[in-house]
Amino acid sequence: MIPLWAQLVYLACAVCFILALKGLSGPRTARGGNLIGAVGAVVACVTVFFYADLDHLVPILVAIVVGSVVGVVGAQRVQMTQMPQLVALFNGVGGGAAALVALLELGAFAEVDGVGVGDFALVATAFTVVVGSLAFSGSVVTFAKLQELMTSRPVLFPGLPMAFAGGLLAAVVLSVLTVTGPTVWVGVVLLVLGLTLGVLLVLPVGGADVPIVISLLNAGTGLAVAASGYVLGNTVLLVGGTLVGASGTFLTLLMAKAMGRSVGHVLFGALKGGSTLGAGEASNRPVKSAGPEDVAILLGYASKVIIVPGYGLAVAQAQHTLRELVDLLSSRGTAVDYAIHPVAGRMPGHMNVLLAEAQVPYEQLKEMDDINGEFKQTDVVLVVGANDVVNPAAKTSPGAPIYGMPILNADEAQQVVFMKRSMRPGFAGIENELLFDPRTTLLFGDAKDTLGKLLAAVKAL
Ligand code: NDP
Repeated sequence: MIPLWAQLVYLACAVCFILALKGLSGPRTARGGNLIGAVGAVVACVTVFFYADLDHLVPILVAIVVGSVVGVVGAQRVQMTQMPQLVALFNGVGGGAAALVALLELGAFAEVDGVGVGDFALVATAFTVVVGSLAFSGSVVTFAKLQELMTSRPVLFPGLPMAFAGGLLAAVVLSVLTVTGPTVWVGVVLLVLGLTLGVLLVLPVGGADVPIVISLLNAGTGLAVAASGYVLGNTVLLVGGTLVGASGTFLTLLMAKAMGRSVGHVLFGALKGGSTLGAGEASNRPVKSAGPEDVAILLGYASKVIIVPGYGLAVAQAQHTLRELVDLLSSRGTAVDYAIHPVAGRMPGHMNVLLAEAQVPYEQLKEMDDINGEFKQTDVVLVVGANDVVNPAAKTSPGAPIYGMPILNADEAQQVVFMKRSMRPGFAGIENELLFDPRTTLLFGDAKDTLGKLLAAVKAL
Protein backbone atom coordinates (compact mmCIF):
# COMPACT_ATOMS: atom_id res chain seq x y z
CA MET A 1 0.00 0.00 0.00
CA ILE A 2 1.37 3.41 -0.93
CA PRO A 3 1.32 5.78 2.10
CA LEU A 4 -0.77 8.94 1.89
CA TRP A 5 2.22 11.30 1.80
CA ALA A 6 3.69 9.41 -1.19
CA GLN A 7 0.34 9.47 -2.96
CA LEU A 8 0.25 13.24 -2.49
CA VAL A 9 3.77 13.54 -3.90
CA TYR A 10 2.71 11.44 -6.90
CA LEU A 11 -0.29 13.71 -7.37
CA ALA A 12 2.04 16.73 -7.36
CA CYS A 13 4.23 14.99 -9.97
CA ALA A 14 1.15 14.34 -12.11
CA VAL A 15 0.31 18.07 -11.88
CA CYS A 16 3.90 18.79 -13.02
CA PHE A 17 3.26 16.68 -16.14
CA ILE A 18 0.06 18.58 -16.91
CA LEU A 19 1.88 21.92 -16.49
CA ALA A 20 4.71 20.58 -18.66
CA LEU A 21 2.29 19.82 -21.50
CA LYS A 22 0.77 23.28 -21.16
CA GLY A 23 4.25 24.83 -21.31
CA LEU A 24 5.26 22.73 -24.31
CA SER A 25 2.33 24.07 -26.32
CA GLY A 26 4.08 27.41 -27.01
CA PRO A 27 7.65 28.19 -28.11
CA ARG A 28 8.20 30.82 -25.39
CA THR A 29 7.18 28.48 -22.55
CA ALA A 30 8.46 25.16 -23.97
CA ARG A 31 11.82 25.18 -22.17
CA GLY A 32 10.17 25.84 -18.79
CA GLY A 33 7.53 23.17 -19.51
CA ASN A 34 10.21 20.63 -20.32
CA LEU A 35 12.01 21.41 -17.06
CA ILE A 36 8.85 21.08 -14.95
CA GLY A 37 8.11 17.71 -16.56
CA ALA A 38 11.67 16.50 -15.92
CA VAL A 39 11.49 17.58 -12.26
CA GLY A 40 8.16 15.72 -11.89
CA ALA A 41 9.67 12.57 -13.42
CA VAL A 42 12.77 12.65 -11.19
CA VAL A 43 10.74 13.20 -8.00
CA ALA A 44 8.36 10.38 -8.99
CA CYS A 45 11.29 7.99 -9.52
CA VAL A 46 12.99 8.92 -6.24
CA THR A 47 9.86 8.81 -4.03
CA VAL A 48 9.56 5.03 -4.09
CA PHE A 49 12.93 4.68 -2.30
CA PHE A 50 11.51 6.49 0.75
CA TYR A 51 8.49 4.30 1.42
CA ALA A 52 8.93 0.88 -0.21
CA ASP A 53 10.94 -1.93 1.30
CA LEU A 54 12.79 -2.67 -1.93
CA ASP A 55 14.55 -5.96 -2.62
CA HIS A 56 17.46 -6.03 -5.07
CA LEU A 57 18.47 -2.46 -4.31
CA VAL A 58 21.89 -2.78 -5.95
CA PRO A 59 20.67 -3.98 -9.39
CA ILE A 60 17.96 -1.29 -9.29
CA LEU A 61 20.52 1.45 -8.64
CA VAL A 62 22.88 0.05 -11.29
CA ALA A 63 20.00 0.00 -13.81
CA ILE A 64 19.14 3.62 -12.95
CA VAL A 65 22.76 4.75 -13.40
CA VAL A 66 23.16 2.87 -16.70
CA GLY A 67 19.82 4.21 -18.01
CA SER A 68 20.64 7.78 -16.98
CA VAL A 69 24.11 7.72 -18.55
CA VAL A 70 22.82 6.26 -21.83
CA GLY A 71 19.93 8.78 -21.86
CA VAL A 72 22.06 11.85 -21.14
CA VAL A 73 24.90 10.93 -23.51
CA GLY A 74 22.47 9.87 -26.27
CA ALA A 75 20.42 13.07 -26.01
CA GLN A 76 23.51 15.27 -25.98
CA ARG A 77 25.10 13.63 -28.99
CA VAL A 78 22.07 13.36 -31.23
CA GLN A 79 21.77 15.73 -34.20
CA MET A 80 18.60 17.78 -34.42
CA THR A 81 17.68 15.91 -37.63
CA GLN A 82 17.92 12.57 -35.77
CA MET A 83 15.50 13.62 -33.03
CA PRO A 84 12.54 11.51 -34.31
CA GLN A 85 14.54 8.27 -33.99
CA LEU A 86 15.76 9.24 -30.51
CA VAL A 87 12.17 9.87 -29.44
CA ALA A 88 11.21 6.51 -30.97
CA LEU A 89 13.87 4.70 -28.99
CA PHE A 90 13.08 6.39 -25.66
CA ASN A 91 9.39 5.78 -26.19
CA GLY A 92 9.92 2.14 -27.14
CA VAL A 93 11.95 1.49 -24.00
CA GLY A 94 9.08 2.94 -21.94
CA GLY A 95 6.62 0.54 -23.59
CA GLY A 96 8.96 -2.41 -23.05
CA ALA A 97 9.40 -1.52 -19.38
CA ALA A 98 5.62 -1.31 -18.88
CA ALA A 99 5.22 -4.74 -20.53
CA LEU A 100 7.84 -6.33 -18.26
CA VAL A 101 6.29 -4.82 -15.12
CA ALA A 102 2.88 -6.16 -16.22
CA LEU A 103 4.39 -9.60 -16.82
CA LEU A 104 5.73 -9.62 -13.25
CA GLU A 105 2.31 -8.58 -11.96
CA LEU A 106 0.77 -11.41 -13.95
CA GLY A 107 3.19 -13.78 -12.20
CA ALA A 108 1.97 -12.48 -8.83
CA PHE A 109 -1.68 -12.87 -9.90
CA ALA A 110 -0.96 -16.44 -11.10
CA GLU A 111 0.50 -17.35 -7.69
CA VAL A 112 -2.87 -16.63 -6.04
CA ASP A 113 -4.76 -18.15 -9.00
CA GLY A 114 -6.35 -14.80 -9.71
CA VAL A 115 -8.27 -14.94 -6.43
CA GLY A 116 -9.17 -11.43 -5.26
CA VAL A 117 -7.93 -9.84 -8.50
CA GLY A 118 -10.64 -7.96 -10.39
CA ASP A 119 -11.35 -8.84 -14.04
CA PHE A 120 -10.58 -5.30 -15.10
CA ALA A 121 -7.13 -5.47 -13.51
CA LEU A 122 -6.44 -8.70 -15.41
CA VAL A 123 -7.62 -7.16 -18.70
CA ALA A 124 -5.44 -4.10 -18.02
CA THR A 125 -2.44 -6.36 -17.32
CA ALA A 126 -2.86 -8.36 -20.54
CA PHE A 127 -3.36 -5.09 -22.45
CA THR A 128 -0.14 -3.65 -21.01
CA VAL A 129 1.88 -6.74 -21.94
CA VAL A 130 0.65 -6.72 -25.57
CA VAL A 131 0.61 -2.98 -26.25
CA GLY A 132 3.83 -2.27 -24.31
CA SER A 133 5.80 -4.95 -26.17
CA LEU A 134 4.22 -3.91 -29.50
CA ALA A 135 5.31 -0.31 -28.87
CA PHE A 136 8.82 -1.54 -28.02
CA SER A 137 9.44 -3.67 -31.12
CA GLY A 138 7.61 -1.23 -33.41
CA SER A 139 9.75 1.64 -32.12
CA VAL A 140 12.94 -0.35 -32.65
CA VAL A 141 11.93 -0.91 -36.30
CA THR A 142 11.09 2.79 -36.77
CA PHE A 143 14.50 3.64 -35.29
CA ALA A 144 16.22 1.24 -37.71
CA LYS A 145 14.30 2.75 -40.66
CA LEU A 146 15.04 6.38 -39.82
CA GLN A 147 18.67 5.66 -38.90
CA GLU A 148 18.98 3.86 -42.24
CA LEU A 149 20.08 0.64 -40.55
CA MET A 150 17.51 -0.99 -42.86
CA THR A 151 15.58 0.17 -45.92
CA SER A 152 13.19 3.03 -45.19
CA ARG A 153 10.87 1.81 -47.96
CA PRO A 154 7.77 -0.25 -47.11
CA VAL A 155 8.71 -3.91 -46.53
CA LEU A 156 5.99 -6.26 -47.74
CA PHE A 157 5.74 -10.02 -48.06
CA PRO A 158 2.89 -12.34 -49.05
CA GLY A 159 0.66 -13.18 -46.12
CA LEU A 160 1.67 -10.13 -44.05
CA PRO A 161 -1.93 -8.90 -43.56
CA MET A 162 -3.06 -12.44 -42.62
CA ALA A 163 -0.16 -12.85 -40.18
CA PHE A 164 -1.02 -9.51 -38.56
CA ALA A 165 -4.75 -10.30 -38.32
CA GLY A 166 -3.99 -13.81 -36.96
CA GLY A 167 -1.59 -12.40 -34.36
CA LEU A 168 -4.18 -9.83 -33.28
CA LEU A 169 -6.87 -12.50 -32.91
CA ALA A 170 -4.53 -14.73 -30.91
CA ALA A 171 -3.70 -11.80 -28.61
CA VAL A 172 -7.41 -11.22 -27.93
CA VAL A 173 -8.04 -14.93 -27.24
CA LEU A 174 -5.04 -15.18 -24.89
CA SER A 175 -6.10 -11.99 -23.09
CA VAL A 176 -9.50 -13.58 -22.42
CA LEU A 177 -7.69 -16.70 -21.14
CA THR A 178 -5.72 -14.46 -18.77
CA VAL A 179 -8.94 -13.16 -17.27
CA THR A 180 -10.37 -16.65 -16.76
CA GLY A 181 -7.15 -17.97 -15.18
CA PRO A 182 -3.89 -15.98 -15.19
CA THR A 183 -0.70 -17.96 -15.89
CA VAL A 184 2.83 -16.81 -16.59
CA TRP A 185 3.25 -18.81 -19.79
CA VAL A 186 0.22 -17.12 -21.37
CA GLY A 187 1.80 -13.82 -20.36
CA VAL A 188 5.05 -14.78 -22.07
CA VAL A 189 3.21 -15.80 -25.26
CA LEU A 190 1.34 -12.47 -25.15
CA LEU A 191 4.70 -10.69 -24.88
CA VAL A 192 6.09 -12.53 -27.91
CA LEU A 193 2.88 -11.84 -29.83
CA GLY A 194 3.10 -8.14 -28.97
CA LEU A 195 6.72 -8.00 -30.18
CA THR A 196 5.76 -9.73 -33.44
CA LEU A 197 2.75 -7.47 -34.01
CA GLY A 198 4.94 -4.38 -33.51
CA VAL A 199 7.32 -5.52 -36.24
CA LEU A 200 4.51 -6.49 -38.62
CA LEU A 201 2.74 -3.17 -38.04
CA VAL A 202 5.73 -0.99 -38.88
CA LEU A 203 7.43 -2.96 -41.68
CA PRO A 204 4.92 -1.85 -44.39
CA VAL A 205 5.18 1.83 -43.43
CA GLY A 206 7.29 3.97 -45.76
CA GLY A 207 9.94 6.41 -44.53
CA ALA A 208 7.91 9.62 -44.94
CA ASP A 209 5.18 8.19 -42.72
CA VAL A 210 7.45 6.68 -40.06
CA PRO A 211 7.39 9.76 -37.77
CA ILE A 212 3.57 9.52 -37.71
CA VAL A 213 3.83 5.89 -36.61
CA ILE A 214 6.34 6.90 -33.93
CA SER A 215 3.71 9.25 -32.55
CA LEU A 216 1.08 6.48 -32.71
CA LEU A 217 3.37 4.02 -30.89
CA ASN A 218 4.07 6.77 -28.37
CA ALA A 219 0.32 6.97 -27.70
CA GLY A 220 0.29 3.17 -27.31
CA THR A 221 3.08 3.31 -24.73
CA GLY A 222 1.13 5.98 -22.84
CA LEU A 223 -1.99 3.82 -22.70
CA ALA A 224 0.05 0.77 -21.62
CA VAL A 225 1.65 2.79 -18.83
CA ALA A 226 -1.75 4.16 -17.77
CA ALA A 227 -3.14 0.60 -17.63
CA SER A 228 -0.18 -0.52 -15.50
CA GLY A 229 -0.81 2.51 -13.25
CA TYR A 230 -4.34 1.23 -12.73
CA VAL A 231 -3.11 -2.28 -11.88
CA LEU A 232 -0.44 -0.99 -9.50
CA GLY A 233 -2.72 1.67 -7.99
CA ASN A 234 -0.15 4.33 -8.89
CA THR A 235 -1.56 7.81 -9.64
CA VAL A 236 1.49 9.19 -11.37
CA LEU A 237 1.65 6.30 -13.86
CA LEU A 238 -2.08 6.56 -14.45
CA VAL A 239 -2.08 10.33 -15.08
CA GLY A 240 1.28 10.42 -16.91
CA GLY A 241 0.31 7.50 -19.15
CA THR A 242 -3.08 8.99 -19.96
CA LEU A 243 -1.47 12.32 -20.87
CA VAL A 244 1.01 10.62 -23.20
CA GLY A 245 -1.77 8.50 -24.69
CA ALA A 246 -4.02 11.49 -25.33
CA SER A 247 -1.33 13.87 -26.61
CA GLY A 248 0.23 11.13 -28.77
CA THR A 249 -3.17 10.45 -30.33
CA PHE A 250 -3.74 14.15 -31.08
CA LEU A 251 -0.25 14.54 -32.53
CA THR A 252 -0.78 11.48 -34.74
CA LEU A 253 -4.05 12.89 -36.10
CA LEU A 254 -2.58 16.37 -36.63
CA MET A 255 0.48 15.03 -38.47
CA ALA A 256 -1.64 12.77 -40.65
CA LYS A 257 -3.90 15.73 -41.47
CA ALA A 258 -0.91 17.96 -42.28
CA MET A 259 0.35 15.31 -44.71
CA GLY A 260 -3.11 14.95 -46.24
CA ARG A 261 -3.83 11.29 -45.41
CA SER A 262 -5.66 9.18 -42.89
CA VAL A 263 -3.93 7.18 -40.15
CA GLY A 264 -5.32 4.02 -41.79
CA HIS A 265 -3.62 4.98 -45.05
CA VAL A 266 -0.35 5.67 -43.24
CA LEU A 267 -0.41 2.19 -41.65
CA PHE A 268 -1.88 0.07 -44.41
CA GLY A 269 -1.58 2.20 -47.59
CA ALA A 270 1.42 0.22 -48.84
CA LEU A 271 -0.52 -3.05 -48.56
CA LYS A 272 -2.93 -1.68 -51.16
CA GLY A 273 -0.05 -0.62 -53.40
CA GLY A 274 -0.07 3.02 -52.27
CA SER A 275 3.53 3.26 -51.11
CA THR A 276 4.25 6.51 -49.37
CA LEU A 277 7.88 6.81 -50.27
CA GLY A 278 9.88 6.59 -53.40
CA ALA A 279 13.67 6.76 -53.51
CA GLY A 280 13.54 9.05 -56.54
CA GLU A 281 16.34 9.62 -58.98
CA ALA A 282 17.92 12.99 -59.72
CA SER A 283 16.33 14.56 -62.82
CA ASN A 284 18.46 15.59 -65.79
CA ARG A 285 15.87 17.89 -67.40
CA PRO A 286 17.24 21.40 -68.08
CA VAL A 287 16.74 24.06 -65.41
CA LYS A 288 17.65 27.75 -65.04
CA SER A 289 20.45 28.20 -62.54
CA ALA A 290 22.29 31.31 -61.35
CA GLY A 291 25.06 32.40 -59.02
CA PRO A 292 24.75 34.22 -55.68
CA GLU A 293 25.35 37.63 -57.31
CA ASP A 294 22.37 37.24 -59.69
CA VAL A 295 20.09 36.09 -56.85
CA ALA A 296 21.34 39.00 -54.71
CA ILE A 297 20.14 41.40 -57.43
CA LEU A 298 16.73 39.68 -57.49
CA LEU A 299 16.47 40.08 -53.73
CA GLY A 300 17.84 43.62 -53.80
CA TYR A 301 15.01 44.78 -56.08
CA ALA A 302 12.25 42.87 -54.30
CA SER A 303 9.86 44.68 -51.99
CA LYS A 304 8.29 41.50 -50.60
CA VAL A 305 10.19 38.26 -49.99
CA ILE A 306 9.00 35.01 -48.42
CA ILE A 307 11.48 32.47 -47.08
CA VAL A 308 10.44 28.79 -47.21
CA PRO A 309 12.74 26.80 -44.93
CA GLY A 310 12.90 22.99 -45.12
CA TYR A 311 14.83 19.92 -44.14
CA GLY A 312 17.99 21.02 -46.02
CA LEU A 313 18.27 24.14 -43.83
CA ALA A 314 18.49 21.86 -40.80
CA VAL A 315 21.02 19.57 -42.49
CA ALA A 316 23.23 22.51 -43.46
CA GLN A 317 22.77 24.21 -40.05
CA ALA A 318 22.39 27.44 -41.98
CA GLN A 319 19.73 29.04 -39.78
CA HIS A 320 22.07 31.72 -38.36
CA THR A 321 23.28 32.81 -41.81
CA LEU A 322 19.68 32.86 -43.04
CA ARG A 323 18.68 35.09 -40.18
CA GLU A 324 21.54 37.49 -40.98
CA LEU A 325 20.37 37.68 -44.60
CA VAL A 326 16.76 38.32 -43.56
CA ASP A 327 17.85 41.00 -41.07
CA LEU A 328 19.90 42.71 -43.77
CA LEU A 329 17.01 42.70 -46.25
CA SER A 330 14.59 43.95 -43.58
CA SER A 331 16.95 46.77 -42.61
CA ARG A 332 16.86 47.88 -46.25
CA GLY A 333 13.07 48.09 -46.20
CA THR A 334 12.17 44.73 -47.78
CA ALA A 335 9.19 42.97 -46.17
CA VAL A 336 10.40 39.47 -45.30
CA ASP A 337 8.47 36.60 -43.67
CA TYR A 338 9.20 32.94 -43.06
CA ALA A 339 6.48 30.55 -44.28
CA ILE A 340 6.31 27.53 -41.98
CA HIS A 341 4.76 24.35 -43.35
CA PRO A 342 3.50 22.03 -40.58
CA VAL A 343 5.60 19.07 -41.81
CA ALA A 344 8.66 20.93 -43.11
CA GLY A 345 11.77 19.14 -41.88
CA ARG A 346 11.49 15.78 -40.21
CA MET A 347 9.47 16.37 -37.06
CA PRO A 348 6.58 18.59 -35.97
CA GLY A 349 7.78 22.09 -35.14
CA HIS A 350 11.23 21.35 -36.64
CA MET A 351 11.53 24.72 -38.40
CA ASN A 352 10.18 26.64 -35.39
CA VAL A 353 12.84 25.11 -33.15
CA LEU A 354 15.58 25.59 -35.72
CA LEU A 355 14.77 29.26 -36.31
CA ALA A 356 14.22 29.92 -32.61
CA GLU A 357 17.78 28.66 -32.12
CA ALA A 358 18.91 31.49 -34.43
CA GLN A 359 16.83 34.01 -32.40
CA VAL A 360 14.41 34.66 -35.26
CA PRO A 361 11.47 36.63 -33.75
CA TYR A 362 8.32 34.48 -33.54
CA GLU A 363 6.34 37.25 -35.24
CA GLN A 364 8.28 36.65 -38.47
CA LEU A 365 7.22 32.97 -38.59
CA LYS A 366 3.90 32.60 -40.38
CA GLU A 367 1.83 29.44 -40.41
CA MET A 368 0.86 27.99 -43.79
CA ASP A 369 -2.81 29.00 -43.60
CA ASP A 370 -1.92 32.57 -42.62
CA ILE A 371 0.64 33.16 -45.38
CA ASN A 372 -0.72 31.16 -48.30
CA GLY A 373 -2.82 34.09 -49.52
CA GLU A 374 0.26 36.35 -49.68
CA PHE A 375 2.34 34.47 -52.26
CA LYS A 376 0.47 36.13 -55.16
CA GLN A 377 1.77 39.54 -54.04
CA THR A 378 5.30 38.29 -53.39
CA ASP A 379 8.24 39.24 -55.61
CA VAL A 380 10.67 36.49 -54.60
CA VAL A 381 10.21 33.24 -52.72
CA LEU A 382 13.52 31.89 -51.40
CA VAL A 383 13.16 28.14 -50.86
CA VAL A 384 16.01 27.08 -48.58
CA GLY A 385 16.43 23.29 -48.46
CA ALA A 386 12.73 22.60 -48.91
CA ASN A 387 11.11 20.62 -51.68
CA ASP A 388 8.00 18.52 -50.95
CA VAL A 389 6.30 21.31 -49.02
CA VAL A 390 6.17 23.48 -52.19
CA ASN A 391 5.64 20.68 -54.71
CA PRO A 392 2.51 21.46 -56.80
CA ALA A 393 2.15 17.69 -57.48
CA ALA A 394 0.35 17.61 -54.13
CA LYS A 395 -2.46 19.57 -55.84
CA THR A 396 -2.25 18.35 -59.40
CA SER A 397 -1.05 14.69 -59.54
CA PRO A 398 -3.57 12.25 -58.04
CA GLY A 399 -1.03 9.38 -58.25
CA ALA A 400 1.72 11.23 -56.34
CA PRO A 401 2.55 9.99 -52.82
CA ILE A 402 2.05 13.51 -51.46
CA TYR A 403 -1.24 14.09 -53.34
CA GLY A 404 -3.69 15.79 -50.99
CA MET A 405 -1.01 17.26 -48.72
CA PRO A 406 -1.65 21.01 -48.31
CA ILE A 407 1.39 22.91 -49.63
CA LEU A 408 2.80 26.42 -49.48
CA ASN A 409 1.68 28.28 -52.62
CA ALA A 410 5.22 29.25 -53.71
CA ASP A 411 4.18 28.58 -57.31
CA GLU A 412 1.97 31.70 -57.21
CA ALA A 413 4.88 34.13 -56.63
CA GLN A 414 6.59 36.29 -59.31
CA GLN A 415 9.98 34.56 -58.89
CA VAL A 416 11.08 31.44 -57.04
CA VAL A 417 14.67 30.70 -56.01
CA PHE A 418 15.51 27.16 -54.87
CA MET A 419 18.64 26.65 -52.80
CA LYS A 420 19.66 22.98 -52.92
CA ARG A 421 22.72 20.92 -53.75
CA SER A 422 21.52 18.87 -56.72
CA MET A 423 18.47 17.82 -58.72
CA ARG A 424 17.67 15.04 -56.24
CA PRO A 425 14.06 15.00 -55.07
CA GLY A 426 12.85 15.57 -51.52
CA PHE A 427 11.70 13.01 -48.98
CA ALA A 428 8.72 11.77 -51.01
CA GLY A 429 11.09 10.88 -53.84
CA ILE A 430 9.17 12.61 -56.62
CA GLU A 431 10.09 15.27 -59.12
CA ASN A 432 9.05 18.84 -58.37
CA GLU A 433 7.63 20.55 -61.47
CA LEU A 434 8.23 23.96 -59.88
CA LEU A 435 11.99 23.46 -60.37
CA PHE A 436 11.42 23.57 -64.15
CA ASP A 437 9.05 26.56 -64.15
CA PRO A 438 10.31 29.56 -66.23
CA ARG A 439 9.95 31.78 -63.12
CA THR A 440 12.24 29.52 -61.09
CA THR A 441 15.98 29.95 -60.59
CA LEU A 442 18.22 27.36 -58.91
CA LEU A 443 21.12 28.36 -56.70
CA PHE A 444 23.06 25.13 -56.27
CA GLY A 445 25.24 24.30 -53.28
CA ASP A 446 25.16 23.51 -49.59
CA ALA A 447 22.71 25.97 -48.02
CA LYS A 448 25.20 27.30 -45.45
CA ASP A 449 27.84 27.93 -48.06
CA THR A 450 25.52 29.53 -50.64
CA LEU A 451 23.69 31.61 -48.04
CA GLY A 452 27.06 32.97 -46.90
CA LYS A 453 27.92 33.95 -50.47
CA LEU A 454 24.44 35.39 -51.02
CA LEU A 455 24.75 37.45 -47.85
CA ALA A 456 28.09 38.85 -49.01
CA ALA A 457 26.64 39.63 -52.45
CA VAL A 458 23.60 41.44 -50.98
CA LYS A 459 25.91 43.47 -48.71
CA ALA A 460 27.96 44.45 -51.75
CA LEU A 461 24.93 45.81 -53.68
P1 NDP B 1 12.30 17.63 -48.45
O1 NDP B 1 12.83 16.38 -47.85
O2 NDP B 1 11.16 17.54 -49.38
O3 NDP B 1 13.46 18.38 -49.26
C1 NDP B 1 14.67 18.68 -48.66
C2 NDP B 1 15.52 19.40 -49.67
O4 NDP B 1 16.67 19.85 -49.01
C3 NDP B 1 15.95 18.51 -50.79
O5 NDP B 1 15.52 19.10 -51.98
C4 NDP B 1 17.47 18.49 -50.73
O6 NDP B 1 17.97 18.58 -52.05
C5 NDP B 1 17.76 19.74 -49.91
N1 NDP B 1 18.96 19.65 -49.08
C6 NDP B 1 19.37 18.63 -48.31
N2 NDP B 1 20.52 18.95 -47.70
C7 NDP B 1 20.85 20.20 -48.10
C8 NDP B 1 21.92 21.06 -47.81
N3 NDP B 1 22.93 20.72 -47.00
N4 NDP B 1 21.94 22.27 -48.41
C9 NDP B 1 20.94 22.64 -49.26
N5 NDP B 1 19.91 21.85 -49.56
C10 NDP B 1 19.85 20.64 -48.98
O7 NDP B 1 12.02 18.62 -47.24
P2 NDP B 1 10.74 19.49 -46.88
O8 NDP B 1 11.09 20.15 -45.59
O9 NDP B 1 10.31 20.31 -48.04
O10 NDP B 1 9.61 18.40 -46.67
C11 NDP B 1 9.57 17.56 -45.54
C12 NDP B 1 9.23 16.15 -45.98
O11 NDP B 1 9.38 15.27 -44.83
C13 NDP B 1 7.80 16.02 -46.45
O12 NDP B 1 7.70 15.04 -47.46
C14 NDP B 1 7.10 15.55 -45.19
O13 NDP B 1 5.92 14.85 -45.49
C15 NDP B 1 8.15 14.61 -44.61
N6 NDP B 1 7.94 14.40 -43.20
C16 NDP B 1 7.95 15.44 -42.30
C17 NDP B 1 7.64 15.22 -40.99
C18 NDP B 1 7.54 16.34 -40.01
O14 NDP B 1 6.94 16.13 -38.94
N7 NDP B 1 8.12 17.49 -40.28
C19 NDP B 1 7.38 13.88 -40.49
C20 NDP B 1 7.43 12.88 -41.52
C21 NDP B 1 7.72 13.15 -42.79
P3 NDP B 1 19.48 18.18 -52.41
O15 NDP B 1 19.68 16.78 -51.93
O16 NDP B 1 19.55 18.33 -53.89
O17 NDP B 1 20.35 19.16 -51.71
